[in-house]
Amino acid sequence: MPKRPTFAQVHRRSLDDKEAFWSEQAELIHWEKPFKTVCDYRNPPFANWFVGGKTNLCYNAVDRHAEKHPKRKALIWVSTEVDKEVVYTFAELQSEVQRMAAILKSLGVKKGDRVLVYMPMVPEAVFAMLACTRIGALHSVVFGGFASVSLASRIDDAQPSVIVSADAGSRGGKVVPYKGLLDEAIRLAVHKPEKVLMVNRGLAPMPMEPGRDVDYATLHQRFADATVPVTWVDSTHPSYTLYTSGTTGKPKGVQRDTGGYAVALAASMKHIFLGKPGETYFSTSDIGWVVGHSYIVYGPLLAGMATILYEGLPTRPDAAIWWSLVEKYKVTSMFSAPTAVRVLKKQDPSALKKHDLSSLRALFLAGEPLDEPTSAWIAEALGRPIIDNYWQTETGWPILSLCNGLQKQDSRIGSPGKPVYGYDVKLLDESSGEELTQPNQKGVVAIEGPLPPGCMQTVWRDDARFVKTYWSSIPGRQVYSTFDWGIRDEDGYYFILGRTDDVINVAGHRLGTREIEESISSHPAVAEVAVVGVADQLKGQVAMAFAVLKDASKAASTADALKLEGEIMKLVDGQLGAVARPARVRFVSVLPKTRSGKLLRRAIQAVCEQRDPGDLTTIEDPSALQQIKDLVGAG
Ligand code: ATP
Ligand code: MG
Repeated sequence: MPKRPTFAQVHRRSLDDKEAFWSEQAELIHWEKPFKTVCDYRNPPFANWFVGGKTNLCYNAVDRHAEKHPKRKALIWVSTEVDKEVVYTFAELQSEVQRMAAILKSLGVKKGDRVLVYMPMVPEAVFAMLACTRIGALHSVVFGGFASVSLASRIDDAQPSVIVSADAGSRGGKVVPYKGLLDEAIRLAVHKPEKVLMVNRGLAPMPMEPGRDVDYATLHQRFADATVPVTWVDSTHPSYTLYTSGTTGKPKGVQRDTGGYAVALAASMKHIFLGKPGETYFSTSDIGWVVGHSYIVYGPLLAGMATILYEGLPTRPDAAIWWSLVEKYKVTSMFSAPTAVRVLKKQDPSALKKHDLSSLRALFLAGEPLDEPTSAWIAEALGRPIIDNYWQTETGWPILSLCNGLQKQDSRIGSPGKPVYGYDVKLLDESSGEELTQPNQKGVVAIEGPLPPGCMQTVWRDDARFVKTYWSSIPGRQVYSTFDWGIRDEDGYYFILGRTDDVINVAGHRLGTREIEESISSHPAVAEVAVVGVADQLKGQVAMAFAVLKDASKAASTADALKLEGEIMKLVDGQLGAVARPARVRFVSVLPKTRSGKLLRRAIQAVCEQRDPGDLTTIEDPSALQQIKDLVGAG
């Protein structure tokens, strides 16, 4: 038997012989018309993949499987919020998507139009996304429950002809009404949608605006047997726009193509996420984020897998709910985020042990640094491999990971792995732009163009911003910056040290906030911590730490808090040296995070420096920032 190529060989080939490598991957999807050029990069940094080819994302995700395996499970909706579980086979999903497509068409949606989806985690949201790509319209999913102002700015940017929404979402058993927020957002927005399609879940009042608002149930009836043929589009036809999480500033509207995205996701399901047709995939993200787009909706369905759409908290009715779903549906691959694991970590680990998790091959985690204690805890509790992977809304699929579908690679604690095939990753010196080739040098994680298939085509309606934001930050060269800071060890494993603007410069020493956070979170009393650099007259910058304790009573009195603060500082001194010691370690009950669970360090830093924290539209709990304000104000 021929020996399988090593991961390094595959990676090399994907860059040296792009044409051959990506042509092979392109066989994983259906092409209505074959492509002529694998990659057109005549106008860098704009890359066009599979030029000349025609395909359709919805056809590849749904129809292709419905034709061969109509009775296979496709979409499994589980809501612990409204106590419902509905399974759609590929045939049923195909029929629902066609009905939705017929409805959208009846509301005037045409190829190239945008449809804004502002929905909770319900099947109709998935139908709407797939219906859009079926007819060549672009979806723009906005995380459900965003307040009116954030929604309005996204309406103005995407300029949708139709908005699809629902009366309400639900969170922890509490109804979150949407319609009022939506009406207010449309009032605030300059752009007005022609129609608003409302799904009534019977959770909250849903006053209808005559002439504009239409009821989904009525149209769903009317288009009961609708068939809507697939619109074959150019590979480069945009499939959707999606905003980044807004951790570092104003969210950017990422525009994705069709063919490149389909190929990239199908390949990633095979080589990274180890998913096979007929199996079940469970991603705990939300459809409002990129993980939801790539690995709740498109990736698993493209691979012919069933995908679980879960509406609810990981801890309700109890901390075993996810694992009961793994057992019940024999989930083979699961995708979540470190922040969710930390929530579970506060619960009793025995909850995980109650269920048969033998179907599960691995748990994939992404979105933020995976610290050692969290990784070790979940690995022990699950008894399954934990695979970190690093990427961005911009790229749509992993930049760094393990590709165990190519050849088994060992994971290294604290590292998301190595550059994935297709990505020409470089570590660059921030000020000189020079490539850092020696092991253990810290630099900016950059990607040499062209970006591989599936990555962003451009910033929606703003090519200049695409070039200026992503390709112009490194002196002397046009290279894509991730704006993350990393290091590579002698064996080629990368470690992400934080965002480039999270580097703290204490008296000339450059420290990653992540390094200090890791050290602090190794203290047994600490559940979570955020470290930021704060301007200091003497040292340039000092580190400030805000920690959440596993048991808040440990710092209830001032004396206790000071004692613990002293212990933590000593720990950092011992692990990293006194330069890394935070000026203060303060205790809070919750940290300010985006709704996707990322720390809003830039906002914490602004508050510490008594500046305006800027765009906070994606913040989960505004009271978290208030706590920090109060502490800082009190000195
Ligand atoms: P914005 O770009 O609007 O500030 P954002 O960067 O948080 O928001 P995303 O695209 O959702 O929006 O997040 C990508 C970022 O998340 C990466 O650039 C990186 O900083 C971080 N990240 C993702 N996965 C990992 C990981 N496995 N390890 C470390 N960091 C990660
Ligand atoms: Mg980003």
